[in-house]
Amino acid sequence: MKNIVRILDIQAVTHDVKCFRMEKPAGYQFVPGQATDVSINQPGWEAEKRPFTFTALNTAPYLEFTIKGYPDHHGVTEQLHLLRPGDEIIIEDAWGAIEYKRPGYFIAGGAGITPFIAILRTLHHDNRLAGNTLLFSNKTSADIIYESELKTMLGEQAIYLLTKENKPGYQNGYLDENFLREHITQFNQHFYVCGPDKMVQDIAATLEKLGANVDAVIFEK
Ligand SMILES: Cc1cc2nc3c(=O)[nH]c(=O)nc-3n(C[C@H](O)[C@H](O)[C@H](O)COP(=O)(O)OP(=O)(O)OC[C@H]3O[C@@H](n4cnc5c(N)ncnc54)[C@H](O)[C@@H]3O)c2cc1C
Repeated sequence: MKNIVRILDIQAVTHDVKCFRMEKPAGYQFVPGQATDVSINQPGWEAEKRPFTFTALNTAPYLEFTIKGYPDHHGVTEQLHLLRPGDEIIIEDAWGAIEYKRPGYFIAGGAGITPFIAILRTLHHDNRLAGNTLLFSNKTSADIIYESELKTMLGEQAIYLLTKENKPGYQNGYLDENFLREHITQFNQHFYVCGPDKMVQDIAATLEKLGANVDAVIFEK
């Protein structure tokens, strides 16, 4: 069902990611990890739907999206980043992208962290984070979405990997087979993978080869 919702607040998360808090339609429900089709309620943009993931708790009185802008695409994310509180977007019903099944490894690249933000925030809220580990890859430390919140929630249960920066406290390199073998002891746990196309395909193939169960979502081609 189509819902027109007003933007309540917009905050910068990183240099190219913004957090949008929106009105929540009465009775609107989603499962952490789910997404919806979003378009902008402005002439010419209403039909341009793109998927974005809910990042707040389902019980919060507002909806939240955490959106990376791609100005070079001249598409919806560029326009979303130009919006102001009071502007409106159109959302559809929530649909499944990835859902929490049991403790395991969350492996994310860049904005691919968003479904895991909703899941990790919910597990943290419910005191059920134990046994879960995050492997989060970004180009540089400036690209890490919600870094301080993730560090508070997960502490030692997270590894931050940088592909284009060497910095103390962070791993340097790629999420390849060597890295996975070095950092993962039990491949019989559940694996949740989300990020750009090639990263997700490569990691899912490697994990499956190593005998793991993998749920994967591709965010961009
Ligand atoms: C289930 C799901 C959930 C998602 N949730 C989130 C989320 O919570 N947060 C988030 O940030 N993202 C999320 N994404 C990714 C998000 O949907 C895309 O980033 C978004 O659709 C991009 O829209 P756009 O209109 O800006 O660009 P696009 O639709 O990618 O591109 C618009 C046009 O730009 C051109 N173009 C495409 N790629 C390039 C390029 N590399 N260089 C130049 N031009 C190009 C093409 O001509 C294209 O038609 C999710 C994706 C999925 C599948």
